[in-house]
Formats: sequence, C-alpha cells, structure tokens
Amino acid sequence: MSTIDYSELYYGGTWHQPASSNRIEVRSPATEEIIGSVPAGASGDIDSAVSAARLAFDDPNGWASWHPKQRAEVLERFATELESRAAETARRVTIQNGMPIWLAEQFEGGFPAVLLRYFSDLMINAADVDSRPGMLGGTALVSRHPVGVVGAIVPWNVPQAITFLKLAPALAAGCTVVLKPAEETVLDAFLMAEAALAAGLPDGVLNVVPGGRELGAYLVAHPDIDKVSFTGSTAAGRTIAETCGRMLRPVTLELGGKSAAIMLDDVDLNSSMESLFAATLLNNGQICWLNTRVLAPRTRYDEIVDAITALASSLEIGDPLNPSTKIGPLVSSRQRDRVEGYIAKGKSEGARLTTGGGRPSLASGWFVEPTVFADLDNTATIAREEIFGPVLSVIPFDDEAQALSIANDSEYGLGGSVWSADVERASALASKVRSGTVGVNHYSNDPVAPFGGIKNSGMGRELGPEGLHAFQHLHTVYLPPAN
Ligand code: NAD
Repeated sequence: MSTIDYSELYYGGTWHQPASSNRIEVRSPATEEIIGSVPAGASGDIDSAVSAARLAFDDPNGWASWHPKQRAEVLERFATELESRAAETARRVTIQNGMPIWLAEQFEGGFPAVLLRYFSDLMINAADVDSRPGMLGGTALVSRHPVGVVGAIVPWNVPQAITFLKLAPALAAGCTVVLKPAEETVLDAFLMAEAALAAGLPDGVLNVVPGGRELGAYLVAHPDIDKVSFTGSTAAGRTIAETCGRMLRPVTLELGGKSAAIMLDDVDLNSSMESLFAATLLNNGQICWLNTRVLAPRTRYDEIVDAITALASSLEIGDPLNPSTKIGPLVSSRQRDRVEGYIAKGKSEGARLTTGGGRPSLASGWFVEPTVFADLDNTATIAREEIFGPVLSVIPFDDEAQALSIANDSEYGLGGSVWSADVERASALASKVRSGTVGVNHYSNDPVAPFGGIKNSGMGRELGPEGLHAFQHLHTVYLPPAN
C-alpha cells in the first residue's frame, strides 16, 4: 500500500520547509504497518506559526476586524472544501486511530462543516453591542471581542471533530489559531490544511504544527499566545493549567471522564441497546464522555448484566475500514498495554469477568475484546480510573438515592445518562448528577448546548453560544450621563 507523506508544514497561508529534519511516522493500529509520515514540528516552527497568527490577528484591516458575514463567507468555502474531502478525511482517521469507518464518516467527515456553519451563524446573529442604562446616569456599551491568537492542542481519539470544537468558534469569532495535532493523527490535520488553503483562508488565520507533548508545552507557554484551548488527559491538563495560571492566560480544558449510566428499575432494555452501545462503547471505548460505569438496580441486576454481556459479546471486531465493524483496534500498542493492565487489575481485585478480557484472534492489530465486569463496587480501581478502552463495569445499587451517590462518587464529572421508561423521572434524576452533561435514554453532544466537565474533567465549555464566548473577551465602554 502506498503511504501518505508530506514534506512541508502549513502556516502563514502557505507550505514551508520545516525547521528540523525529524519526522513523525504514523502506523496503522489494524495492520501495524507504516501508513504515512509528516515533518515533526520544532520550536522554530511554532515561533514562525505563532508570529504568522499574531501578524494576522493584529492587522487593523485583518480577519479580526472583518464583519462576521465576511468571515462566514470564507468559512463557508472552508466547509465546502472540507465536505469535498470528507470521505478521505474519514478514511485517514480510521487508518490512523482505528475508529470504525461508519463513525468516522459521521464524526470526522461530517461534523467539521456543520460546526463551521453553526458558529458562523451564531456570530452573524449575535448582537453587536448590549446597551445598558447605567445606575449612575450614563450608559454602558458591552460588546464581545475576539480573544486573540489561540493555541489549540488536540488528542488523537476524535481528531477532526475535536479540532473543530475549537477552530469553528475561534475563527468565527475573529481569532487566529495555531493548531497542534497529536502525533498519532497528523494525516487528517494536513488534509484539513489543504482544505484551508483551497478555501482561501487569509494568511496566518490557521496554522498547523504537529508534534508531541514538549512541542505542546512550548506552544502553551509561548509569549505571543492569548488563549489556550486543550483537549486531552487530566494529567496534561493540570500541567497546562499550571503554566496558564502562572501566565494569567485564559484556558479551556476538556479532560478525562468516568461517567455513569444509571439504569432505573423500569428501564426497557430491548429498546435501549443500540443507544446504550453508543453511550458506552463507541469508538472502541476511546471517548472521554463514555458511560463506562453502568449502575444497575439489584432487583434487575442479573438481567442487566446479562444484557450488557450479550451486547458486548455480539459486537463485530475487526478491520475498522469494514463498514460492519463495531469495534476496531486501540490506537497504539501502548494503549492496549494500558487497557490490558486495567483488565488484569479488575480480575485481581475480585470483579467477575462476564465477557471479553482477551485479544481476538486476528492476524495483526492492537485489538482488545469488548470486556464487561460484574460484582464489583465503586471502590474498585476499574470503577474509579479512566481506562480509555472497551471495558465496562456493572455496579449494583439499592435505590435511586444510592445510584445518584455512586454516580457522583467520582473524581470526574463529564458525561452520564439515566435510562427509564419514564422520561420525566429520568430527567429529574439527571438534573442531580454532578457532571457537565447528562443524557436521558441516550447520550450525544448536541452542538447547540455547552459541553464540558467539572472536577477533574476540566473547566470551560465548548459548543453552544458558550463555546463561542470562550474565544471572546468582554469589553465595556461607559458613556457619560446625558446633560
Ligand atoms: P494527552 O493529554 O497525552 O495528549 C493530548 C494532546 O496533548 C496531544 O496533542 C499531546 O501531544 C498534547 N500534550 C500532552 N501533554 C502535553 C503538555 N504537557 N503540554 C501541552 N500539550 C501536551 O492525551 P491522550 O492520551 O493522547 O488522549 C486521551 C485523553 O484525552 C483521555 O484522557 C480522554 O479522556 C481525553 N479526552 C477528553 C475529551 C474531552 O472533551 N473532555 C475529548 C477527547 C479526549
């Protein structure tokens, strides 16, 4: 198979020779073969990209000064260019991180253009100025301004959708961006850069420099960045928050999770299974908001354990490019080792393995079978720590109050769900779950509403008007009292 290789980096509106000769090689998690490579960004490339973004932002007639409608025209062209590459974007994500292709087509091929249009429309329809009659006789004119040059750092698990949770609002608001994709998923980011170039984004508005954590840390601390938007692990988020705290630099952090699906005693299991799969095992278990703790009432515990076990063991595992595959490989052998370590821990701490736990018999690839543990409580390591693989824990509860207390007994607070035949009852309980987002009888992030976490799941919000406000600062003009 031919590989996808790039020799230059995209910043300042064109392709540039990289500062170093180091390269990032990408391996397919399904075949374990090298599928492409790009230049590894160096600190010199970040300096050049940040200075291009700074120049573009500070230009008095530039991007930030344009009317939202003018920016929307460019972003519409960007959306169209992305759509014409949607199939290839999905394919590249799938061959890099193992995301099943049908999911990559939705999340990675489709969602970026949706987000560009959504945030462009929000900007166009936002009031220019909020004029408030003052208490002291004058008038306060309150407006929102683009926050400046944004350093955006994204992980490998849903690389394009997560990139556009940041890019779409930042660009619509009038910010310029330096994006650092994760090393595992660079080929989709370079295709996105090609789309930006074809769409005619003004020079320096979007800049892409791939690299690892050291390069990310360099970007976060760069003196010419005005805001950091990060998605990734809690550990990295903490380090980034420390740097931003020291520099008094605004930061949005979307971090890890250990969310709970609360199954109430009247849940209709038959009609819930498809949505339950999406809420618990999507993307091979590698999504931050997955509901990896399933809480089941003791009165129906065995039935629910059996249903989840049957669900997990029925999922087709294999080549993620095959449209019928439900579970692809994990992103790397390191990630598989990590997940297998948790499976061993689950067993050694006495949880009962009801299905999975091993590797499927496939010729190659970093696969782990969908795995379910029962007969454990919320103190087990596998119930407390984020595994980031297809491993579920089914935990019993006695009544709703105890279910809520188990759901809330977590260092994380990102997602969650409540399942019941009675939507009102489920919704009442959902409102008490201490988490940024909770679904009823399903879980999915709707673009109109804020998404993000509390506790160790991070701070700040993406999506919705709140996700746009994250890339704006407030500005007040005090008009004097009329004579
Ligand atoms: P990671 O934190 O190791 O890496 C994520 C990105 O940050 C990569 O681009 C990496 O190069 C960069 N990075 C790492 N350390 C850095 C540092 N100190 N300074 C600057 N940049 C740094 O995370 P990962 O293991 O690759 O991704 C999985 C994690 O991401 C999981 O914990 C998952 O829950 C989380 N995640 C969260 C969300 C969300 O929206 N809350 C979404 C997806 C993934």
